[in-house]
Amino acid sequence: MPTSVNILELSDFSLAEQQHFGRARDILALAVNFPSFRDRVLTAPYKETYFRLEGGRRISLKPTEIVQIISDGIERGTAADGIIDISIRKDPTIEEPVVGSTVPGKLPWRTGSWFIERCTTAGDTISPARHMIHEWLHVAGFVHKRQNGYRNDVAYLVGDVVRGILREIAAQKSDHQISEDLGIAAALDRSLEHLGED
Ligand SMILES: [Zn+2]
Repeated sequence: MPTSVNILELSDFSLAEQQHFGRARDILALAVNFPSFRDRVLTAPYKETYFRLEGGRRISLKPTEIVQIISDGIERGTAADGIIDISIRKDPTIEEPVVGSTVPGKLPWRTGSWFIERCTTAGDTISPARHMIHEWLHVAGFVHKRQNGYRNDVAYLVGDVVRGILREIAAQKSDHQISEDLGIAAALDRSLEHLGED
């Protein structure tokens, strides 16, 4: 069964921003159901795969478990429903280079107004898709080893997998719905993040 991506709420987004993030949702669903997604997630070069259990204990997961959590759409503490649930609050107080802030295991997360507005204006759907899977992986329970200090982890590498697949689809199909602004992509590469823990 394909994995679906469902937007529950986009708080304080304009209509244009809602439509744009809706397109990003559509292409994120394409990416997570792409034939090579599973193998790419299984073989990504993880330095660590830390996951915070609901009780607070930190464990490491195997790549097969990472794939299962994504394909089953399991937010921490929810059932395997095959649905990746997304809920975002637009936050004008989050300034570049910070993109977003997620409390692990919790929806909604907060995303900076600057990022939402720039992606919408530039027609960049790949960067919000990459951002959404990154933050959703925190909602699922994955944490960074140390804030911003250690990038080869699940949230960053799966975000890179999504971007890589979408770039390939865009190159093959010249699909104008799938587009990346290199300035925004670079801002995402430089981004810092505030997490409720870790
Ligand atoms: Zn993160």
